[in-house]
Order: sequence, then structure tokens, then C-alpha cells
Amino acid sequence: MNLDFDRRHLWHPYTSMKELLPVYPVKCASGVMIELEDGRKLIDGMSSWWAAIHGYNHLELNRAATEQLGRMSHVMFGGLTHEPAIELGKILTGLLPDPLDRVFFCDSGSVSVEVAIKMALQYWQAAGKPGKKRLLTVRSGYHGDTFMAMSVCDPVTGMHSLFSGALPEQLFVEAPSCGLSEPWREEAIDEMRQALEEHADTIAAVIIEPVVQGAGGMRFYNPKYLQRLRELCSEHGVLLIFDEIATGFGRTGTLFAMEHAGVTPDIVCLGKALTGGYMTLAATVASGHVADTISRGDPGLFMHGPTFMANPLACGVAVASLHLLLSGDWQSNVRRIERQLTEGLAPCAKLDAVRDVRVLGAIGVVELSRPVDMASIQQRFVEHGVWVRPFGRLVYLMPPFIISESELAHLTSAVCEVLVAEYGL
Ligand SMILES: *Cc1c(COP(=O)(O)O)cnc(C)c1O
Repeated sequence: MNLDFDRRHLWHPYTSMKELLPVYPVKCASGVMIELEDGRKLIDGMSSWWAAIHGYNHLELNRAATEQLGRMSHVMFGGLTHEPAIELGKILTGLLPDPLDRVFFCDSGSVSVEVAIKMALQYWQAAGKPGKKRLLTVRSGYHGDTFMAMSVCDPVTGMHSLFSGALPEQLFVEAPSCGLSEPWREEAIDEMRQALEEHADTIAAVIIEPVVQGAGGMRFYNPKYLQRLRELCSEHGVLLIFDEIATGFGRTGTLFAMEHAGVTPDIVCLGKALTGGYMTLAATVASGHVADTISRGDPGLFMHGPTFMANPLACGVAVASLHLLLSGDWQSNVRRIERQLTEGLAPCAKLDAVRDVRVLGAIGVVELSRPVDMASIQQRFVEHGVWVRPFGRLVYLMPPFIISESELAHLTSAVCEVLVAEYGL
């Protein structure tokens, strides 16, 4: 493999083309194992960023892809439709709580956030309140890398200063401060309430990741926050958008994280694990009320339609992935992973450099007091036979749901050992 070409010519996510951190060449991946070109096998602790919930190279997903390839890989969705899209739409609307039943298929998580925000703006335009154009959100969020999505990411980690002037300015309030297991404190929603009271006439929607804030800090918060937020949004006439791109499809122990709170947004964004990590596909699902209002307004259309909308190959694999998830016992797998992450990561809490260890569902997070040295820690993980990709002060695990007890034990002890090697006791 020509790694020199890669180094000179290929951008990787959030990297420089000058700083020369190594990338590891992968030959193949199967189950929870990622095999490098040199034959080393790594236990995957990342599910390729929340996505590969069934592991890699899965027979049933391969079969679904191959069968769909034999029919058609793609046809345009303008004026045409097909079984994989209809089947996937049926499954999603069946799984989501009631009013969420109008599905817009799109290319990636970021685009699904763009679509959700466009829906919110067109909704208010159609409802005769065109002044409601701003988004309200919390700090420490992450919603994607395109411009509108970036405008609702945490202003500091999302580097808003870099794009100031080009980036729409949204309203931010403090990140939910009441922890998952703490008793609910009503003050935790005060700043949000105040913002809604003062600015509802200019706010189109609140966008938030339910219960788990992902790439903005891997923070877990009290689901009561979402119940209050739902009440406040209804009271003040502001739409509520849940970004379930990371949390959807079982990761937090419920099929969707919103179920921890028992509340329903007006629009939900899905992505990442939707195809079991096989290819990119996302969906923005709105309530009938939102869809109907948009369709009644001017110009009577929802103004979005990507070239690869509802790609049949991706929809076919997503259908197979959801059948696989729903026919298996993912709940007990996630519960088992949760128990094992809790026990396996507990020793890290004793290290001086560790500020917090937290676990929810199949997500385990070790928060450090200072940022990791990426080059050195990455190499140590590979030497320990695991694939773990920290960011900033966070070392975290979110393995495929099919990971065995012994593989997970290997992962958690690798995290503990690598942290001791990097930071000392
Ligand atoms: C990853 C992620 C996105 C962006 O999805 P992409 O497919 O990378 O565009 C948006 N929101 C959340 C919560 C995510 O975790």
C-alpha cells in the first residue's frame, strides 16, 4: 500500500497535511476485528464512529448489499420510488413515536441536520411567522461539519471564531448541567427557559442531542431536562429537533435516547448506525403537522433533494441491518456491555490524570485532566491490539454490540494499561 501517496495527497478527518501523524493501513475487517496490512489484528472499540453496531463483514448485510446490487445500485428518487426505500420508511416510522412519520432520506448526518433546520425555517415561513429564523441550542453539542450544522455546534470546540462572519449566529445556553444519576435540579433548565421567554418570536427551533452529547464532549445528562424542554418548546411555540445520529439504534440502552425521557420532538435526525456502518445514509423524520404545514405554504414544496436521495443500495442494507437488530437480543447485549464497561473501566478512576469515568449503555468514557498525546497514545493502543481513537481529553469506547465478553475485557484492560503507561498512577 502506498502510504507515501496517502500522506502527500489525502486529507483525513480533522488533520493537517503537514503534521505527520501515522495512519494505519487496513487490509480487511470482520466481526469486531480490524486487520492491518502487516497482519496485526485490532479489537474495534469505536464501531467506526458509532456506526458498525453488528461488526464488519456481516454475512446478512453482505447478502442484502449483493442482492440489491443485482437489482440496481441506484436510481434517482425524483419521480421514481423503490422497495428498499418504502421498506425502510415503514420500519423507521414503526419504530419512532407516533407523530414522527414523514421521512426524508439524505446522504449523511450533517445533511440530515441541514434538512431538519430547513424544515423548521420553511415551517415558520408557511405558518406566517417568517421572523422565526434562529436556532437555540446548548453548549458542548455536536451536529456535523456543514455550515448550518456547524453553526449549532459548541462555539469553542466548533471553532466558530474561524468562520465568524460566514457562519449564521445562533443562540446558545449552558450545556445541561444536571447529571444522569443526580437528582433533577429545576435550575438546570433556567437559562434555556429564559432564552425561550425572551426570544421565542425569533426562534425557529431548539436543536439538541438527547441524553448524550457526543463529539462535543461525551457528556451524559438528566432526561428530565428533555421533558422540561419539550414543555417549554410547546408553550413558547418553538419546534424541537432531536439529533439522534449518534444515539439512535440502541447505543444508550433504549432504541432511541429520547425514550429515556419519554418525549417526542417535532423532527428527529438519524444516521450513523442506520446502515450498520456499511455506507452513508441518514434520515430526517418530521411529524405530519410539520410536513403538512410546509406543504401548505409557499412554494408548497420542501426545498431539498440530493442526487443520491434514498440510494437503494444503502436503503437495502439499512433494512437488513434493522431486521438484524430487531430480531436479535440487542437489549441484553447492550446491558451486558454496560455492566462490563462499568467494571472494566472502574480502575481508571483511581489514576491521578483521570477526572471522571462514566458509562451509559454501550458507551464508556474516561475523561482526563489534560489532552492526550495523540501519536503516542494511538501507537500504544495498536500495540495492545485494540482500535481506540481518543479526542482531546476523552478516551472512550463504543464497541459493536456483538463484542464478546473476553474481547471487551481485552479492550477495557488495554485502556487502563495504556493510561497508566501514558500518565503514571
Ligand atoms: C456524527 C454526527 C453528526 C454528523 O454526521 P456525519 O454523517 O458525520 O455528517 C451529526 N450529529 C451527531 C450527534 C453526530 O454524532
